[in-house]
Amino acid sequence: MDKFVISSGHAKAVRGACGYIDEVNEARKVVPKVAEYLKELDCKVHTFNDNTSKTQRDNINTIVKYHNSKSRDLDVSVHFNAGTKEVGGTEVLYYGDGNKALAAKVSNAIANALGIKDRGAKKRTDLGFLKGTAKPAILIEVCFVDTKTNADAYKKSFDDCCKAIAETLSGKKVKEVAKSVEKKSVIHRVQVGAFSDEKNAEKLAFELKKKGYSVNVVEG
Ligand SMILES: [Zn+2]
Repeated sequence: MDKFVISSGHAKAVRGACGYIDEVNEARKVVPKVAEYLKELDCKVHTFNDNTSKTQRDNINTIVKYHNSKSRDLDVSVHFNAGTKEVGGTEVLYYGDGNKALAAKVSNAIANALGIKDRGAKKRTDLGFLKGTAKPAILIEVCFVDTKTNADAYKKSFDDCCKAIAETLSGKKVKEVAKSVEKKSVIHRVQVGAFSDEKNAEKLAFELKKKGYSVNVVEG
């Protein structure tokens, strides 16, 4: 797959879950970062945030309409979960059975990147986004906003999380930019004497030169 439409869950005025982190705010960070990595992997990506809807119904319709207006292989919605005070974890929701394997892979990749529980692929037939989008679709629940260990892991490994999503969706690996490991040349100096009187320094230099050494007299 190399053409994607990715949107953030909920809307600016129709907020989602809130805990140690805010679902809508964070989804709006994950979407562009994943898109950036996908573009690096030569994929075509459209992204969308709903800034206009005032009701939940409008919100779903607006998001679905945007997705269906684009040419793409897969529709992706980014959410964060809430409701457990326990270990939390990553889930990826799907509708059609054909998307189960991809959902499981994405869930596993995110859970690994964050070092949190992999709750896996979950079939959901009641969600507007999954029902309304015409192409294969997955809905990512990155982690739980109200599980502190999840929120901390997400903040710490945000970049790895987004990279893992992009790599799993595209089936390609982001190339590590070769870091220049240019070795600095180090000069090792040998000092044989330090004199307050320049004449004494010159005298030693002269002795050493006679013996065939290359000598520099320096002040310092
Ligand atoms: Zn949500």
